Amino acid sequence: MQATSSATAPFAHSVLTWFEQFGRKHLPWQQNKTLYGVWLSEVMLQQTQVATVIPYFERFIKTFPTITALANAKQDEVLHLWTGLGYYARARNLHKAAQQIRDQFHGEFPQDFDQVLALSGIGRSTAGAILSSVLGQPYPILDGNVKRVLSRYFCVEGWAGEKAVENQLWALSAEVTPRDRVADFNQAMMDIGALVCTRTKPKCDLCPLKQKCGANLTNSWAEFPAKKPKKTLPERKSYFLILAQHNKVALEQRPSSGLWGGLYCFPQFETKSALLTELQRQGIRQYQEWTIFRHTFSHFHLDIYPIYAELDGDNFDQDRCNWKKIEEIQAEYQSSVQSAVKYWYDPQNPEPIGLATPVKNLLLEFQKGRKNG
Ligand code: SF4
Repeated sequence: MQATSSATAPFAHSVLTWFEQFGRKHLPWQQNKTLYGVWLSEVMLQQTQVATVIPYFERFIKTFPTITALANAKQDEVLHLWTGLGYYARARNLHKAAQQIRDQFHGEFPQDFDQVLALSGIGRSTAGAILSSVLGQPYPILDGNVKRVLSRYFCVEGWAGEKAVENQLWALSAEVTPRDRVADFNQAMMDIGALVCTRTKPKCDLCPLKQKCGANLTNSWAEFPAKKPKKTLPERKSYFLILAQHNKVALEQRPSSGLWGGLYCFPQFETKSALLTELQRQGIRQYQEWTIFRHTFSHFHLDIYPIYAELDGDNFDQDRCNWKKIEEIQAEYQSSVQSAVKYWYDPQNPEPIGLATPVKNLLLEFQKGRKNG
């Protein structure tokens, strides 16, 4: 679906006039625009604020200045540069799409909408944003910011996760988006969503759409967009084994798909007794429990129970760290550690690998303990 409006139509005109004065025009990916740079920024900006993205974007482009350089990189290097940005499937898809572009398009980002849409990790809004921004192709967009503005302006009922509501929003986006000046318009809509029509306390007084915005006229912005029907997130537990030897700790790589796919993590166990069985198997008789903490994913809470042990732990000072004796053992447990690739990671001289955020935080604790110990 392409844009159908024009830059002189009232909606587009108000938005473009606002953009000239207040729109963001100095972001790194807006300078000497390339399809690669705008694509990278669009992927990084999904679920993430501009200020967070800027340093990641700059590091990424410096390390991988071309799509082919990205395609030829090891997945570990890509995930390493992504560490802390979250939603790692984005990084894996980006890497995969770069390989598709290298293999199918000689390393040149395609310019045809359907070819862009067929790339790994690129949806309709991202494809439209890239092609409109760099080439001026007349595609509307519908990211979270634009959804919010349109939902409020047109008082769209229902949750945007439902197909019918989403289709309605797409039709509205195409209806207000001009075929001319489409790049400025799409950027302006994202900026209005991010800076003016904010999730809470929108600044309607400063909004170029305030005169005809349904939510503003009826003082009902809080009702739009409708919230996702609530469901309580399930809770899961995981026992992390922080196994140290001298100054290094054992990490293992997660399978390439799924949770923390391709990242390095501490060996994980579903129960404490399973973890203790592993320690026993390794001849370790003492361990230390660290503070439990919660990491929340979009679809569940994970309560993490870190347990620290040292391969030569019996030689350590008993008073220093409150060691416990292993008592609880279930001999029948088959440890997942036995089949995984273990890797001794030295936090003082870190290798460029991707680390899940809780792992990164626990490694900092480990280093602190070394300094204080
Ligand atoms: S007038 Fe207010 S609610 Fe309407 S689009 Fe602007 S900021 Fe959002």
